Amino acid sequence: MKRIVVVGAGFGGLEATVELDKQLRHSSGFEILLISDQNFFMFTPLLPQIVSSYINPRHIVQAVRDIRGKRSYRFLRDTVESIDVAGRQLRATSGPIAYDYLVVAVGSRTEYFRTPGAREYSMDLKSLEDGVVLRDRILDICEHADHTTDPEERKKLMTFAVVGGGYTGVELITEMRDFLFRYVAGKYRGIKRDEIRLVLLEAGANVLNGVDPLLRPHALKRLHDEGIEVRVNARVTRVVEGGIKMNDNEKLAAGTVIWAAGVRAHPLVEALPGPHDRIGRASVNEHLQLEDHPEVFVIGDSASSTLAPDAPRVAPVAITQGSIAARNIVHMELGGLLESYTYVSKGMLVSLGMNDAVVSVGGLRIYGFFAWLFWNAVHLFKLVGLKKQIQVALDWALGTLFPRDAVIIREPKTCKICEAAKRELVHAK
Ligand SMILES: Cc1cc2nc3c(=O)[nH]c(=O)nc-3n(C[C@H](O)[C@H](O)[C@H](O)COP(=O)(O)OP(=O)(O)OC[C@H]3O[C@@H](n4cnc5c(N)ncnc54)[C@H](O)[C@@H]3O)c2cc1C
Repeated sequence: MKRIVVVGAGFGGLEATVELDKQLRHSSGFEILLISDQNFFMFTPLLPQIVSSYINPRHIVQAVRDIRGKRSYRFLRDTVESIDVAGRQLRATSGPIAYDYLVVAVGSRTEYFRTPGAREYSMDLKSLEDGVVLRDRILDICEHADHTTDPEERKKLMTFAVVGGGYTGVELITEMRDFLFRYVAGKYRGIKRDEIRLVLLEAGANVLNGVDPLLRPHALKRLHDEGIEVRVNARVTRVVEGGIKMNDNEKLAAGTVIWAAGVRAHPLVEALPGPHDRIGRASVNEHLQLEDHPEVFVIGDSASSTLAPDAPRVAPVAITQGSIAARNIVHMELGGLLESYTYVSKGMLVSLGMNDAVVSVGGLRIYGFFAWLFWNAVHLFKLVGLKKQIQVALDWALGTLFPRDAVIIREPKTCKICEAAKRELVHAK
């Protein structure tokens, strides 16, 4: 029995597993094992809408066993700690697992570019938990600002800085803007609209690099019209509690700093033998194999492939690579020419908050309300499973008709703002 192990149940790993299952359904002698440290698949494009309380967190994730349905692959929820490529074995928390073929699809992690304080004092948006924690943090800050008597302190608390002007940073800040202005400004009577400040910081000369240059001006205008401050050539050089330093000397006081400025390969990938690119992704050949280990495939955010080293780290790339890697394993076992991966852009869709987006797909270039409808339709269609599609569509409808849900789900265990406020009260007494 030959064992094919896929590590990671994200876009790439899940696609690889499903394709392997499909191709090998009628062949005996193969065991397909999917290992992931979460028991669900997450639809990351909707993560910013968790932060803005537009969607219920559980609606953008789907249990792997539900996706599996009647397929025959095995699923193990476990964390892979190391990969011994020479010994064809990986070490998971539960013990060693041998493999004949391996597909590595563990995604990426946040890159802080060695910026002092960034890891400690900024928040992240990579996981579902990050989304929920950030949403709760925003609400917690609003609770404090609501009854803070010092207007300067309130302004500082209500300043939110997003570091990184890529599509994640832009989608996040526009969602936060919707939440803060449509909900918070109306319900928290101690917070005035003009005390809410949203700042997008980009180290390069442009935000939304990679977005069609014909659409970028519209996106910038929308950010401007929504009162979001966009700072380009603003390199964050230090993050401290309560603010950041830019370009070594300029300071910005901010109650919350969110880091969306870069990604780096997963440590498991960085530890693989052979060459890596500048952000630690494994360099793989056109068939997505490691140079000296054709039985090891690396895909998605983890890979830099020979024919497409500059392919963006987006879901469609991971999905296409997942299915190619799966078919190449089948070709190696059952015969057939190995397929090569070349990057073909499937377009770019960026949401700019409620009622606005920019879309460039094929020859289509649109912005505004219809682009936003298109963005919604595409993302709804791409969600896995009818149940999730209905849940998200209902969330959107309810979020448009009714106020957002502003319940703090996870009270912070220790909150520096609460402690400071309590000290203030004691002093006042
Ligand atoms: C906030 C946000 C918004 C995004 N928006 C978009 C968008 O609108 N459009 C788009 O195309 N792309 C978007 N992306 C990018 C997209 O999510 C990634 O490019 C895509 O997920 C990469 O797929 P992957 O299979 O390589 O990794 P992932 O989908 O990240 O999957 C990695 C999997 O590996 C698992 N894993 C990690 N470490 C281990 C371990 N040690 N052991 C076992 N399992 C492990 C993880 O739990 C996860 O299941 C967004 C990303 C983020 C963070």
